[in-house]
Amino acid sequence: MQRRTFLRTSIAAGLMGAGSTTLAPRLLDAAPRRPPEGPIRLSSNENPLGISPRARQAIIDQMGDANRYPRGRERLIEALATKHGMPAETFVVGAGSTEVLKMAVQALAAPSGTLVLAEPTYEDAPWYAGPFDIRLAKVPLASDYAHDLERMREAAHAATGPVLVYLCNPNNPTGTLTPSAAIDAWIESAPENMYFLVDEAYYDYVRDTRYWSAVKWVPERPNVIVARTFSKVYGMAGIRLGYAMTHPETAQRVRRFRVRNNANHFAIVAGLASLQDAAFVRQSLEVNERGKAILYGTLEDLGLEYLPTHTNFVMHRISGELQAYRRRMRELGIWVGRPFPPMLDHCRLSIGTPAEMETFAEVLRSFRNEGWV
Ligand code: PLP
Repeated sequence: MQRRTFLRTSIAAGLMGAGSTTLAPRLLDAAPRRPPEGPIRLSSNENPLGISPRARQAIIDQMGDANRYPRGRERLIEALATKHGMPAETFVVGAGSTEVLKMAVQALAAPSGTLVLAEPTYEDAPWYAGPFDIRLAKVPLASDYAHDLERMREAAHAATGPVLVYLCNPNNPTGTLTPSAAIDAWIESAPENMYFLVDEAYYDYVRDTRYWSAVKWVPERPNVIVARTFSKVYGMAGIRLGYAMTHPETAQRVRRFRVRNNANHFAIVAGLASLQDAAFVRQSLEVNERGKAILYGTLEDLGLEYLPTHTNFVMHRISGELQAYRRRMRELGIWVGRPFPPMLDHCRLSIGTPAEMETFAEVLRSFRNEGWV
């Protein structure tokens, strides 16, 4: 059976399973736009363009060295040092920024400190606290979906022992900002044994004058760690590369928790090549803007509220049950975001290519006709 016929048949079968009689023709029309290689993945905030052509070539060129332990870490760090105008000792490289989060949590909050974090926020930092006796002080986001810094500050000051404050800015899963001036004010007045882990995974997407990086604190404040990733705007999620910037004193402490020989050789060479491919970054941002406009337009047409985003994903309302919605989307080959309690009346949708967003829009409209959203 030809791929396209197979897709159309499976979509029709999926619809039968969902008990629909009216939806099939509309969805079948949408089917041919699906990429031949598989589902439309709008679930993990990946870059829909793939990796930079330069990074791809660098990996291919280095394939002959796959049997060797990684080399080139120093060159990568030098390139990062140039990009950020900071000394090499400032950088801690990880297999994705998730490893950096792990190192920071375990170096600074373990074995029995407190991790202060928002709810909902990105789940990895509390996950890495899991094996330890680290207390989680979760503070709901404020009504504007910024971090509630006032309440987080109270929680941090009430804690005994080491304190690590995790600030995801912009926040995942809401895509919202916490104004950098407010974060600065807290860092400025915080005691030096209160650590701040500022996760800037989506830094490159932000175009808002209220936002700037917390990296400005790194030279003077050993209690600030900033995490960045190559997974988003550089499209390297499957290759695993991220880094922290922090005062050399803290970098040394944090580095002790890294895995030896991280990052892998291909992550290093692809990272180096990506840093030289400004055109790819521009293209990624531009595609994200176009996809976002299609998504906003569709959500507005359908009267589904959404949180204006500063990232490559959008948290939007659905009516009905999230798991059923996810299952129905998946049956039609569209993967959407996982649940983020307590926002279970919302779905986090990653922004795909404009064509993918058009397909999603069509499917969502059909869901409305069925009364599913
Ligand atoms: N931090 C945030 C806020 C994220 O959303 C993600 C991934 O989605 C990560 C960190 C981890 O990224 P990676 O380990 O791929 O660098």
